[in-house]
Amino acid sequence: MLNLILLGPPGAGKGTQAVKLKDKYNIPHISTGDIFRKNIKEGTELGKKAKEYMDKGELVPDEVVIGIAIARLREGDCGGGFLLDGFPRTVHQADELSRHFEDTGGKIDLVIDIVVGKDELVRRLSGRRVCKSCGATYHVTGMPSKVDGVCDECGGELFQRTDDTEETVSNRIEVYNQQTKPLVEYYEKKGNIVHIDGTTGLENVFSDITKSIEA
Ligand code: ADP
Ligand code: ADP
Ligand code: ZN
Repeated sequence: MLNLILLGPPGAGKGTQAVKLKDKYNIPHISTGDIFRKNIKEGTELGKKAKEYMDKGELVPDEVVIGIAIARLREGDCGGGFLLDGFPRTVHQADELSRHFEDTGGKIDLVIDIVVGKDELVRRLSGRRVCKSCGATYHVTGMPSKVDGVCDECGGELFQRTDDTEETVSNRIEVYNQQTKPLVEYYEKKGNIVHIDGTTGLENVFSDITKSIEA
C-alpha cells in the first residue's frame, strides 16, 4: 500500500515523474488535469465546464473537482495505493481528501513537493509538447523527441496544450502561488511532506523521490 501525492507548480515535472513512479511502484497515476482533458476531447458536459477555466489558467471549481477525484479513489485499482498528480490544489480539496481517509481508514504516506523557480517553469511550459495519442510529454529543447513532432513511444503526433501559451502560463503560476502553495505548509503541519529539487535532471529527481519514499 503506497498512497502518494505529487505537489508542485505547473511545469515542475509532476507528470514526467508520475509516469516513472507508477511503473516502479505499480500504482495508478491519477491526474485530474488528464481527466478533464479526456472529457474535453469527448465533448462531455464536464469537459465543457472545465475548459472554461482551464483555458484561462484558472482552477476548476472545488465542487466540480472534489467529487471526481474522490470517486476515482474509490475505484478498485486504488486499493493497493495510488499516485495523485495535481490534486489537491486548494486547502478545501485537501480537507475533503483528509475526510475521505477518515471515512475509509487510509492515509497519505508521502507528499512529494517538487521545487522549481519561476523562470524555469515558464521555459518548461512554453516548450512543452504532448503526444496526442498516448500523452507522453516532451520539451522542444530540453527533452526533444527523436523525430521532430513525432512521439518516440507510439509514433503519435505531438501538440502544444492550449493552456501552455506564455500569457496563460504566468496566470497559472500566480494561481499556484495563491491557491496551491498554502498546501506546503498544510502538509508540513501534518509532517508527511518532502521537498525535492526539481532542477537536477530527470533521473536525479526520480532517484531523490524514490529515496524519500523508501526512507
Ligand atoms: P507538470 O506535470 O508538473 O506540469 P511536466 O511533467 O509536464 O510538468 O513537465 C513540464 C515540462 O518540463 C515538460 O516539457 C517536460 O518535458 C519538462 N521537464 C520535466 N522534468 C524535467 C526536468 N527534470 N528537467 C528539465 N525539464 C523537465
Ligand atoms: P499542470 O500540471 O501543467 O498545471 P494539469 O494538467 O495538472 O497541469 O492541470 C491543467 C488544468 O486543469 C489546471 O490549470 C486547472 O485548470 C485544471 N485542474 C487540474 N487539476 C485541478 C484541481 N485539482 N483543481 C482545480 N483545477 C484543476
Ligand atoms: Zn505517444
